[in-house]
Amino acid sequence: MSKQTLSFQAEVSQLLHLVTHSLYSNPDIFLRELVSNASDACDKLRFEALNDAALFEDTPNLEVRVAFDKDAKTLTITDNGIGMSLAEAVEHLGTIAKSGTKDFMSRLSGDQKQDAQLIGQFGVGFYSGFIVADKITVESRRAGLPAAEGVRWISGGSGDFEVENIERPARGTSVILHLREDKSEYLSHWKLKSIIGKYSDHISLPILMQKEEWDAEKSEYVQQDAWAAVNSANALWARSKKDISDEQYAEFYKNLSYDQEAPLAWSHNRVEGSTEYTQLLYIPAKAPMDLWNRDHKAGIKLYVKRVFIMDEAEALMPSYLRWVKGVVDSADLPLNVSRELLQESRDVKAIREGNTRRVLAMLEDLAKKDAAPKAAEGADGVTDVVSEEDKAAAEKDVGKYSAFYAEFGAVLKEGLGEDFANREKLAKLLRFASTQSDVVNVGLADYKARMKEGQQAIYYITADNLAAAKNSPQLEVFRKKGIEVLLMTDRVDEWALSHLHEFDGTPLQSVAKGAVDLGELQDEEEKKAAEAAAETFRPVLERLKESLKDKAQDVRVTTRLVDSPACLVVEDHGMSTQLARLLKQAGQ
Ligand code: ADP
Ligand code: MG
Repeated sequence: MSKQTLSFQAEVSQLLHLVTHSLYSNPDIFLRELVSNASDACDKLRFEALNDAALFEDTPNLEVRVAFDKDAKTLTITDNGIGMSLAEAVEHLGTIAKSGTKDFMSRLSGDQKQDAQLIGQFGVGFYSGFIVADKITVESRRAGLPAAEGVRWISGGSGDFEVENIERPARGTSVILHLREDKSEYLSHWKLKSIIGKYSDHISLPILMQKEEWDAEKSEYVQQDAWAAVNSANALWARSKKDISDEQYAEFYKNLSYDQEAPLAWSHNRVEGSTEYTQLLYIPAKAPMDLWNRDHKAGIKLYVKRVFIMDEAEALMPSYLRWVKGVVDSADLPLNVSRELLQESRDVKAIREGNTRRVLAMLEDLAKKDAAPKAAEGADGVTDVVSEEDKAAAEKDVGKYSAFYAEFGAVLKEGLGEDFANREKLAKLLRFASTQSDVVNVGLADYKARMKEGQQAIYYITADNLAAAKNSPQLEVFRKKGIEVLLMTDRVDEWALSHLHEFDGTPLQSVAKGAVDLGELQDEEEKKAAEAAAETFRPVLERLKESLKDKAQDVRVTTRLVDSPACLVVEDHGMSTQLARLLKQAGQ
C-alpha cells in the first residue's frame, strides 16, 4: 500500500495538543510507558504462541532494547513482541480505546496549570512519547506476517499521521523518538539507565542497552557493539514463595525500606478472585521516628504488572497500619492510575481490605507464637505432641509479638476508631499491664479467662504512668476483692477505649467512672452499710454538695474505697479526668 495520511480521532488530537502544549511535571514517565508497551507486546506474543509456537519464528528470547543516536538525536525503543499490522497501527495509535485515558480526558478542567499536573500524574500511554519528541516514527511487523507486510507510522503529534507498508524482517516494534531540541538530556546512557532503574527495574524481560566505554583519544564515552541488561528483570514478589530464601526476603526488605534491621515478619501471597494482585508485606522491627505524624508516608509501593506506579500508596493500607512496608502488584489497575483515582477504585478497596486482613493475621500469628511454650503444655498438664521442627520454629518467634507491641501497639489502637469491621480482631491484639502484671502482656482474652466468678465487667483505669495507675485510690476495693484491673498508660488509650465498649460479650468499665457496680461481687452487707451511711451522712453530703456547687456535680457515699477518705470520679458517660487533662494540655 502506498503512503496514506490519516487524521487522528478527535480525542487524540485534543490529547496531543495538551501533551505538547502543557508543561510536564515529570517528563521521565514517557520511557516507563513505552517500555511497558514493549513488555505488554512480548506478553501478548507469549500468550498467542501458546496456540501457535511458530509465532516465535527464530527469535524465542523476548527482550526490549533501548538505544540512542546522538547525531540523529533519536531515541529508539525496540521489542520483539507481537508487533502491529498496518490496520492495527492505524487503529491502536490513532484512536483512544483505553478507559483510563478517556477518564483522564473527562477530568480536564481547561486550566493549563492544573491539567498539566494531572497529565504528569496520569501518563497517557503511547502519546506520552510526544512529551520529549516532536516526531515519532513507529516501525513494526506483526508476528506471523511476512516481512513485506511491515508498517511505518509517522506523526508530528498534531492533527494527522502517515502510514505505509514497509519491508521489515524483524518481528516486533521499534518506536523512534525524534527528540525535541530541549530534550537532548535523554541522549545519555546514564540518564536512561537511571530512569529504567527507577520505573522498570522489575519488568520481567531484559531491557538491554549498548555498553559504553571511555575512549581516551576522543575523551568521551563511546557506545560498544555489545548489549547488556540494565534492569534486574527480577520481581522478587512475582516469583514463587518456595524459590525465595529468608535472606532474600530480608534483603528485599532492606532495599525497600532503607531500614538496616531485618523485618520481624512478612507475608507473601498471590490473591486471586475478582481482584487479582500480589502482596508482599513486612512488619518492621523498629518504629520510624515520625510514626506519630499522621502524615507519615504510607509504606506500600504500587506496581501494575511489574511496572512501578508509585511510592507511598496510602490508599492501599488503612492509616493505623501506615508503618507496614511492602509491595502490591495489581493485575487489574491501569498503568496511568493516579492517586485520586486510587481513592475511588473498587479494586483498590478490595486490595486494602485484603492487605488489612493479612497484616492482622500476621499479628495474630505472632501473638499466638509469643504464648507458644506455655500453650504447648496443655491446661490439663498433658503435653501436646509437637515436632522438634515446629517447636524450634515456634521458639524462634517467641517474644516477637511483645517486641512488636512495644513499638507499634499504640498506633494499632488507632484502628479501634478507624476500622470498625476489624474492631474485634484488633481488640484481641491489645495488650496491657494490670494489677497482676507490671509487664504489658495481658490480653483481653487472658483477662477474661481469669475473671472472678460473678464478675460482669472488664475493669480498667487510665493514668499518665504505671505508678500513678497503681496507686490510684480507685483501685482499693478491687484489690481487696482480688479483682484484676487493667492499667492503661498510653495517651491514646482513653480515646481508643471510647470506641471499644465490650470484648467478647463483656463490657469494659472504667473504675474511675460512675458508681462502680460490682454486681454479684458486692457483699449484701456492704451495700446495706453504705445505704445506711448515706442516710446518716445526708446532712454532711448536702453541705459538701452546696459548698462544692461549682466544682462537683454530686457527692456520694462510696464502697469503692478501703483506706482513702475520698476520691474523684466522673459520670458514667462523662469525659474521664485523664482525657480532660489531655485536652487541657492540648489547649482545648
Ligand atoms: P495501553 O498500553 O494502555 O493499551 P497505549 O497508549 O500505551 O495504551 O498503547 C496503545 C496501544 O498501542 C496498545 O494497546 C497496543 O495495542 C499498541 N501498542 C503500543 N505499543 C506497542 C508495541 N510496542 N507493540 C505492539 N503494540 C503496541
Ligand atoms: Mg501502554
